[in-house]
Amino acid sequence: MFELTKDQKELQLRARAFAEAELIGRAAEIDESQEYPWDIVEKLTKAGFCGMTVPEAYGGQGLTYLHTVLVIEEMAKICAVTARIVVETNMGAISAILAYGSDEQKKLATEMVLAGDKPAICMTEPDAGSALTDLTTSAEKKGNTYVLNGTKHWITGGGVSRLHLIFARLIEDGEDKGIAAFIAIKDEDEGLVIADREPTMGLRGIPEARVEFHDMTLPADRLILPQEGIRRGFAGLMNAYNSQRTGAATCALGIATGAYNIALDYVETRHQFKRPIAEFQGLQWILADMATSLEAARLLIHKAASSEGTNGFPDPLLAAQAKILASETAVSVTNNALQLHGAAGYSRRLPIERMVRDARMFTIGGGTAQLLRNLVASRILDRKFPQTRDGYVGWEDEDRPAGQQRKRG
Ligand code: FAD
Repeated sequence: MFELTKDQKELQLRARAFAEAELIGRAAEIDESQEYPWDIVEKLTKAGFCGMTVPEAYGGQGLTYLHTVLVIEEMAKICAVTARIVVETNMGAISAILAYGSDEQKKLATEMVLAGDKPAICMTEPDAGSALTDLTTSAEKKGNTYVLNGTKHWITGGGVSRLHLIFARLIEDGEDKGIAAFIAIKDEDEGLVIADREPTMGLRGIPEARVEFHDMTLPADRLILPQEGIRRGFAGLMNAYNSQRTGAATCALGIATGAYNIALDYVETRHQFKRPIAEFQGLQWILADMATSLEAARLLIHKAASSEGTNGFPDPLLAAQAKILASETAVSVTNNALQLHGAAGYSRRLPIERMVRDARMFTIGGGTAQLLRNLVASRILDRKFPQTRDGYVGWEDEDRPAGQQRKRG
């Protein structure tokens, strides 16, 4: 746990070399142009950083989530957009399909990620953000097809991703059966419309888009149904999201570590009062706190990535804790790095202000820091806490994940 294996260290060094060679010159350009870095995608694909977690039987390398987070951190130190591409070509939608999809679905999805496609996960809707189960996108069964209608927003990769994993209500004979997931492919499935791009604060090289489904007709074999069935299948699909959550935490950690590294150099070279500013104890303590929180976040991420939750996904409690800690650490560490630079940190000539902007999203996307705290509280107290006013009425003991107990420190 505390010592990486030889192959993990080698992979980490290879990712670092890639990031230093390919990303230092591109990160600011990607931010400025707001264009998806297809050139980098091609290089990532050739270097084998897309689809690392895909089993060898499907043409991948069968690497673990711990291997993957090592790569993500190295990329994020320099270019968070690239790191997010690595997250989503290895975790999230692809993990869900690998865990719950049919053989055909796995082949389809793995071929796409191995070729560099960054799948889009379509969950959030204008009226269903944190309250995801309020989503209204419908998938009506008609003969041997499903007809999807609805609107998603804040879909990362909307417009550049081909593979879409869409969460929708399954309607059969007019009856709402529950939430299921469907695979759709941009440019192949008619009715998948990229409606609008969000002008974002950071991570501007990946579009965040509104995606609409207008009578999008999918063959029945695009439905992903975990074997638990439709009622419990949604929990299974959300469980897959713990991989992506761990990856997102790592992006945040990497951005913060990159900013910290730059600040560490700067305080030695910048002189005021005829001495390096590193000699001021007030700044030393800021640096000490930055280093300490980064190390804590890294350890928690490695623990989450190595943990064994259900179906091989990271443990939900650890994934949530890792994302809370890493995302909040990233906000504070990048801001402190800017502060240590004085005015220079505020200039767009240096990467620090971009890192502040890029880090900001991680307390929001993929489950806000508040919602994740709800999850943590529910786990440590071993109770479900209803968030709606009318309260939770259907709690049954069997809904409690097996082996879950109160977590004592
Ligand atoms: P709301 O749910 O409206 O929340 C507003 C505020 O209220 C937040 O501070 C929240 O923490 C708080 N809050 C709400 N309910 C509670 C509660 N019960 N207890 C305490 N606090 C509460 N979605 C996708 O489906 N796919 C994507 O690819 C994707 N990518 C994203 C990328 C970015 C950059 C961002 C910013 C978002 C992305 N999202 C994506 C959407 C993201 O998952 C949602 O923004 C998130 O779930 C929060 O929903 P919301 O923005 O509607 O906020």
